[in-house]
Amino acid sequence: MQDLLISYISLNITVVDNMNKEQLVEIEQLINKEIDITRVQIEEYKELTKPIAPDCAIGRVSRMDAINNKSINEAALRTSEEKLKSLEYVLTKLDDPNFGKCAKCGETIPLKRIALRPQSVFCVHCAR
Ligand SMILES: [Zn+2]
Repeated sequence: MQDLLISYISLNITVVDNMNKEQLVEIEQLINKEIDITRVQIEEYKELTKPIAPDCAIGRVSRMDAINNKSINEAALRTSEEKLKSLEYVLTKLDDPNFGKCAKCGETIPLKRIALRPQSVFCVHCAR
């Protein structure tokens, strides 16, 4: 009876391991996709944060708008650049046995969370 239980448990572990490998491939694809999207966004934000034309080219009000938008876009650009860096970092960590574990408490990060925020190295509780 006990032997049966043990083989059942080890069977389950094997299944989980196989699943994890498949899920890792999925996550890798997801991260690569996210990297592509983020690179495109960065290019767009760079385009939007180019120097603003002098007063005479556009009206005063539109110039104010342009300056406001520029700082919003600059902040978005910085966020995207940071995101890209974390995504590229996560990609190098996929083979790490600690991948998917919270960098703070060591708890396993749910795959759903990794899929949604692959750049996150903390579990939901520690990220707060
Ligand atoms: Zn944690």
